[in-house]
Amino acid sequence: MAFEGLAQRLQGTLQKIKGKGKINEADVKEMMREVRFALIEADVNLKVVKEFIKTVSERAVGQDVMKSLTPGQQVVKIVQDELTNLMGGEQNPIQFARKSPTVIMMVGLQGAGKTTTTGKLATVLRKRHNKKPLLVAADIYRPAAIQQLETLGKQLTVPVFSMGTDVSPVEIAKQALKEAEKEHYDVVIIDTAGRLHVDEKLMQELKDIRELSKPDEVFLVVDAMTGQDAVNVAKSFDEAIGITGVVLTKLDGDTRGGAALSIRSVTQKPIKFVGMGEKMDALEPFHPERMASRILG
Ligand code: GDP
Repeated sequence: MAFEGLAQRLQGTLQKIKGKGKINEADVKEMMREVRFALIEADVNLKVVKEFIKTVSERAVGQDVMKSLTPGQQVVKIVQDELTNLMGGEQNPIQFARKSPTVIMMVGLQGAGKTTTTGKLATVLRKRHNKKPLLVAADIYRPAAIQQLETLGKQLTVPVFSMGTDVSPVEIAKQALKEAEKEHYDVVIIDTAGRLHVDEKLMQELKDIRELSKPDEVFLVVDAMTGQDAVNVAKSFDEAIGITGVVLTKLDGDTRGGAALSIRSVTQKPIKFVGMGEKMDALEPFHPERMASRILG
């Protein structure tokens, strides 16, 4: 299960302090030392850990007194609040364009789950938002990527716009937008090329597609299992092309939690969705508060 180690350690630590009627600075310090270890072990970014510990310690020592809670319970609540804040606070919904079509650009490294997520997103848009999506195959470097999207489209009965591998991705995006306007699609999801590593050529291509298609959302798809690498990838993509949100995939695996807990703080961009499996219905909106509750039990 995701976050299992972190959950166990934090719950164990907080259990010790929960029942306390009185808490002094030494208690808080001792607890925070354990929380710090738990976060580092979960592969949370070191700077993020440091800031988190500072914020929680300050709040816990200078506790604003809530009569309904014991000091121990208050400290637990502070940890929970700050974990929620760390992951972005509120759930962050898709920003739809005022005038259709809404354009969503999907970016990410190969294998992160970009194409799968594109299909899942089409499912969410159709089922939960009652939208008519068009998928666009803009990865011209891997014929298999186009095929994969077309197969998904067939399976979901969602149309896929493709022009093969001989036309530039910018041109494909341009023609797809024309098609969307003509056929009254509400949302255009552009599945862009992925590479094994962040590179200049890919970034330039993505910038060009971005400039032309003026997306309402640029979703970076990253694999939660890759921990701090995912955070670094998010930082690079955001600096190079500007992302509007993150989709964290493979949260159904046994990821330690580092990416989920660090990405928001490092990039200031929200996690919008999480991938919870390979099936097409396994994409969920990301709720920081629920995630914090799940971690703290
Ligand atoms: P892309 O190269 O980024 O387009 O990656 P794909 O969409 O082809 O996905 C790579 C692999 O990850 C595939 O085997 C997917 O089924 C798998 N995958 C994607 N998202 C998830 C997820 O949320 N959970 C799990 N368990 N597997 C996923």
